[in-house]
Amino acid sequence: MTSGDGVVRRGHPIFAVHVGDYPEQLLVTGCKNGECPKCPILRTDLGAEMDGNRPLRDLGKVLDALATLDHDGPRAYTKACSEAGIKPLYHPFWEALPYTNIYHAITPDLLHQLYQGVVKHLVSWIREAYSTEELDARCARLPPNHSLRHFSKGISKLSRVTGSEHQDICRILLGLVIGLPLHGGASPVRLVRATRALLDFLYLAQYPAHTNQSLTLLEDALQAFHDNKSIFVDLGIREHFKLPKLHFFDHYRRCIELYGTTDNYDTQFSERLHIDFTKNAYRATNRKDELAQMTVWLERKEKIDRHAAYIAWHHRQPETAPGYSSSLLVSQPPRSQPSPAPTPTASGPQVATPTSIIRSSPSHAKARGGRPRAVVLPVARASR
Ligand SMILES: [Zn+2]
Repeated sequence: MTSGDGVVRRGHPIFAVHVGDYPEQLLVTGCKNGECPKCPILRTDLGAEMDGNRPLRDLGKVLDALATLDHDGPRAYTKACSEAGIKPLYHPFWEALPYTNIYHAITPDLLHQLYQGVVKHLVSWIREAYSTEELDARCARLPPNHSLRHFSKGISKLSRVTGSEHQDICRILLGLVIGLPLHGGASPVRLVRATRALLDFLYLAQYPAHTNQSLTLLEDALQAFHDNKSIFVDLGIREHFKLPKLHFFDHYRRCIELYGTTDNYDTQFSERLHIDFTKNAYRATNRKDELAQMTVWLERKEKIDRHAAYIAWHHRQPETAPGYSSSLLVSQPPRSQPSPAPTPTASGPQVATPTSIIRSSPSHAKARGGRPRAVVLPVARASR
């Protein structure tokens, strides 16, 4: 493989990290819903207290259970998987990979565990503890600031709050609750401490560099939340904290020590692809039987991208393609050829035409000088 400095090296990649949200973590490890995908903690103990030294699940036991499928038949296999604490997985991809422990490979997920997970819970608990009207009024009273988003209508009316909106809320959350008395004259001290501890954990977990001291602060913040979370039980807001996402905070320190800071395996980066591969694809459908239409849309988009890459390559190396100079590519009249683009029919999928997508490619637009079909057609013929 060619590395970033252009040198070709012999590489032996090892599967070390699996980046995904909670359903994906369960899918790849075979754990059941509501369980931790890393350690064999009981569901009743989830979120009870902090313990960063829990042993991980026994990989050897799981591999032995998976091996019974080929030797002892499906009945023994199902029983062995159940005893190993996993769902029956049919030869998972990591089974035979060298030096791979799938339970080590499960990593923290800031977006889904913190912003869209525990922080989302915390905001709803705070809204229950104080009145929604008072919190919204406090949001509106905050003076505008360059680094803060001003929620002029409050935070309770937001629907489908995104990760970035939760980031904005986190910046003002502590300011909203400080000095606000609880109903019935209860002391808000533990609530403020629990909120602050969770926010401390949130920001420490995102540090771009760590020392032993910062990792200790991370654990201290989590311990402070566990020490003060009982306020939500006393107020009648929660009965328990059996949240797998809250429990997973126990594993943050070990994961950071093993795999580096959390920005190395943050799902926020891959989550961006939902827009290109899912949301845009869905918008191109007629909302009926959308999966097949989205698949066709993606297939066509891939073909167009490959074709655009071919054209870019051709422009870079005109002398290597005898008979087809780069000037030929742009010299054709735009309307002299029929369009090769599959166009949507009345009964067929309503997908975006390739022409419209090529238009969105800046490099390609530059090459064609504003005439999309003048470029696409001659090269399509030249490539036969
Ligand atoms: Zn665990």
